[in-house]
Amino acid sequence: MGGTFDPIHHGHLVAASEVAHRFDLDEVIFVPTGQPWQKSGRRVSPAEDRYLMTVIATASNPRFSVSRADVDRSKMTYTVDTLRDLHAQHPGAELYFITGADALASILTWQDWAELFELAKFVGVNRPGYELNIDHLADHLRGMPDDAVTMIEVPALAISSSECRRRAAEGRPVWYLVPDGVVQYISKRHLYVPAQAEGNGSV
Ligand code: ATP
Ligand code: MG
Repeated sequence: MGGTFDPIHHGHLVAASEVAHRFDLDEVIFVPTGQPWQKSGRRVSPAEDRYLMTVIATASNPRFSVSRADVDRSKMTYTVDTLRDLHAQHPGAELYFITGADALASILTWQDWAELFELAKFVGVNRPGYELNIDHLADHLRGMPDDAVTMIEVPALAISSSECRRRAAEGRPVWYLVPDGVVQYISKRHLYVPAQAEGNGSV
């Protein structure tokens, strides 16, 4: 499951857990993006902070792990590179790429989208506020195996990282939207605090 994870929240974790159960996956690998090309318009927290929050959030689940593949790649993150790297690291594994309805909708704007379907099966999950619909992909999917893209229903959690950042910036709680350790990490690292509100403490 790829994502910016700025920060990782319970919507991500529930989706991953549900897909793992439904497809009987051995492992879910969370892959925080390096420099996300679709988010170049806004400031994204340092990759290392996003990576560590993802580790904290997934540490207690024996089937969850986190990959540094995108964080350590020096160029912009493209899913096709992520999948090629994961194949190299897990030879012979059957890969499933988990995405929310919003991300799946923009799949055709991704680089080398046709190759993506050769590298992995795609699983789209519902997300409140977005239509889970692949009708617009029908033409492109013609001739592809039926299981190239599967839609599944997961418990709907209306949580987004954007809203978590907004809440943290305004001093509102993010408890129970993100795992406890992530609440504490955000606070410890002063993530999402507007620049002028940050203390002048020396390190
Ligand atoms: P942002 O608001 O910064 O875009 P986000 O909440 O969308 O953050 P991302 O890191 O962009 O989180 O998403 C990673 C993946 O998780 C995407 O495929 C996205 O569709 C999916 N996802 C995010 N939130 C949910 C949710 N609440 N339910 C289901 N899928 C989700
Ligand atoms: Mg998003």
